[in-house]
Amino acid sequence: MDYNTLAELLFGDITKTPEDIKKEYPKRELPPKAAVTRFAPSPTGYMHIGGLYATLVSSKIAHQSGGLIYLRLEDTDKKREVKGGADEIINSLKSYGIEFDEGAAADDCPEKGIYGPYRQSMRRDIYRTFAKELVRKGLAYPCFCTAEELDELRKKQESEKADMGYYGEYAKCRNLSLEEIKANIDAGKEYVIRLKSPGTPEGKVTCRDIIRGNIEMPENITDVVILKSDGIPTYHYAHVVDDFLMGTTHVIRGDEWISSFPIHHQLFTVSELPMPHYAHIAPIMKLDGGENKKRKISKRKDPEASVTFYSQQGFPVKAVLEYLMTIANSGYEGWRMKNPDANMQEFNFKLEKMPVSGALFDMDKLSSVSKDIIAAMDEEELFEKISAWAESFDEGLSGSIKSSPDKFKDSIALWKYNGKKVRKDIAKWSDLSAMFPYLYSNDEISEYDFDEKISKEDTKEFLKIYTEKYNFDVDGSQWFADVKAISEPLGFCPDIKQYKADPSGYKGSVADACTILRVAVTGKRNTPDLFSIIKLLGTEETLKRINRVIEIL
Ligand code: GLU
Repeated sequence: MDYNTLAELLFGDITKTPEDIKKEYPKRELPPKAAVTRFAPSPTGYMHIGGLYATLVSSKIAHQSGGLIYLRLEDTDKKREVKGGADEIINSLKSYGIEFDEGAAADDCPEKGIYGPYRQSMRRDIYRTFAKELVRKGLAYPCFCTAEELDELRKKQESEKADMGYYGEYAKCRNLSLEEIKANIDAGKEYVIRLKSPGTPEGKVTCRDIIRGNIEMPENITDVVILKSDGIPTYHYAHVVDDFLMGTTHVIRGDEWISSFPIHHQLFTVSELPMPHYAHIAPIMKLDGGENKKRKISKRKDPEASVTFYSQQGFPVKAVLEYLMTIANSGYEGWRMKNPDANMQEFNFKLEKMPVSGALFDMDKLSSVSKDIIAAMDEEELFEKISAWAESFDEGLSGSIKSSPDKFKDSIALWKYNGKKVRKDIAKWSDLSAMFPYLYSNDEISEYDFDEKISKEDTKEFLKIYTEKYNFDVDGSQWFADVKAISEPLGFCPDIKQYKADPSGYKGSVADACTILRVAVTGKRNTPDLFSIIKLLGTEETLKRINRVIEIL
């Protein structure tokens, strides 16, 4: 067969050679051991927590070695593409502090870097140039098999109990003559380009995976498709051409790709291109139905699979990143304990220390990491972070922050400190309205946790008299003295110790009177300092709440 003629027949419009293209992609000038990594999503707009995890790791590996990370959009499957999908991915990663040194940018921005275009759909002729060279060397060929023919092949292999796939004697189009190919093309038949696999059933190949060590696998024997009928490459071929041209040194990707490694190895070999290093990351798992039943966190089943979930709930970015680092590297937690205030970037990350089997995503652990991080934030930072969150995810709260920012600041101080102690039970911003609905929600209180020790009538009577005699224009100790003075004639002992020693003859103590007020104003028996809450709510709102209770009782 005259392969040159075949190559011209199939790719007559391609005038460049791979050598010409290689010259357009010079070696980067980087320190000797610098890693070049990438994130290569399909622009579906959906950012999976596993994608953030992998990108965090890739970005760390690149930057700690003086290298760089770039973004490549794998947009060859137009069916999966979502309008604005790339922007969403870029923005979502940006909100987690991950920015790309090079690569595709938001839809209306120019891309950064000279190793592009970084959108695969714009690289069609580059792949075709490399494929032409394979055809010219007799290492790839056009296949005209229709879907029906491939289906028949499958059935035949099934009945013969043979391995499935387009290979060896089953690869019908492997041996077409130039005349037959010409005739098919003239007849307008569609074709794909397949690799003519040099693999043998006995052959073995070893993937030297940085995380898992050496994995030996059977060599590829399948004549895999490298270009689809529209000239767009399959993942396998695009991976080989792009990661070579773009100078990727470390391919860090999901472990679902391990089984394709033999194909990639073969494609690099026949194309005479050097292979990058590989690190296959185990997926993030969750427990489902029992102690040991782990499964992958799924986009379809689990809301927490999406990075958006964490932003919506209001987990601080730092908490999510910190937690992902603890599952990414076994040494991270110990390092953090020794270096509580250090920047995460100072940690020396090792791919070798990544988990080999799926790391369990433990929501309680994330919450606990988050609680510490929130506890360490000062009021200024809390104000900023909560306001930004509310702006996107809690309209009501955002409205009240904007209408009285000072009040909102005071509310933070209110829950943050218990005397000198700092509160450590808030894991995410949405906890605030769940834990302190009386501070952060405009809804009417629906449940009142009154102490049954005191009758409804006595409760009501005290509240009534209180609304006649209250004075909020005083300081905390005077306010307490007033509560004592108002409640004493109604049968509440002003001295708590004395009451405890002999409760008979009293309805309760001044502490009980305070609890009545507390429940009337907040619905709850346990809250931060009541007088501070009253001051924060203001006289009008406090009285409104108390009067509502009087009506209900
Ligand atoms: N587009 C592929 C994916 O999303 C990229 C895999 C890789 O990193 O090579 O799975």
